[in-house]
Amino acid sequence: MKIGIHGLTSCYGCQLSMAVVERILDVVNTFDLKYFYMLSSGGKIEHVDIAFVEGSVSTEKDEEELKKIRENADVLIAIGSCAIHGGVQGILCDEGVDYNEAFKMVYGDKKIDYNGRIAQPLDKFVKVDYSLPGCPPEEDDIMYYLATFAIGSWPEEKDYPVCAECRRAGNPCILIEKGEPCLGPVTVAGCDARCIGYGIPCIGCRGPVPQGTAWFDSLARTFKEKGMDKEYVRKRMAIFAAQYGKLDEMLDKVYGD
Ligand code: SF4
Ligand code: SF4
Ligand code: SF4
Repeated sequence: MKIGIHGLTSCYGCQLSMAVVERILDVVNTFDLKYFYMLSSGGKIEHVDIAFVEGSVSTEKDEEELKKIRENADVLIAIGSCAIHGGVQGILCDEGVDYNEAFKMVYGDKKIDYNGRIAQPLDKFVKVDYSLPGCPPEEDDIMYYLATFAIGSWPEEKDYPVCAECRRAGNPCILIEKGEPCLGPVTVAGCDARCIGYGIPCIGCRGPVPQGTAWFDSLARTFKEKGMDKEYVRKRMAIFAAQYGKLDEMLDKVYGD
């Protein structure tokens, strides 16, 4: 099975996670790695069975490359919050900042030789078949995705929140007990509630739980009880998921219209 691992505008953290999967030897013989941008930026994009794509579309070149990858892949998987939701760099969209204005704020009058734009997720440009969440994804998830394809199956995306793993880990709930602004109730699971294990509230780096699932329970309502208004929670969620199309719909469910 031929695979390609590609990187658009990003920190390369997702590709790095894929490069250092310890158990890769369990499945590596099933795959013929045709393209891995982190290891070599050379190489012509050719047809693959599965293309993993990290990063957001932040330049015209990103868009062209993504379209080329899509044309040459049977299955396209968005890896990480940048590819799935535009990532942290997509937050400018939420703040309504114009790209040129933002560029000037950061770089002054310097010029660049490419056409930049506000970062956007892959599905604004091409069909995405599967999403592998995380910032970066967890090794277990990467192995699960690779292994399911290796046996001719396909991965099921998690549709339950970080809270489920947090309860399983036996952590005290820092939202209920300390009033910390934990986004665990509305963030997709998979990290074993890592931050909460260290007493740090979740900031939603894995992105929102898919809409329409049973994520909404009394715990989510606790946001209100703890005095966190809708705009505050929306801003926290927007750090990683400003471009999640159903963000406001999801918050309406928590807070009511
Ligand atoms: S999702 Fe996170 S780790 Fe992956 S490229 Fe974006 S910022 Fe880096
Ligand atoms: S709100 Fe946060 S601390 Fe409480 S159970 Fe959920 S993830 Fe854990
Ligand atoms: S607890 Fe939240 S912020 Fe921390 S790794 Fe998990 S999803 Fe990301």
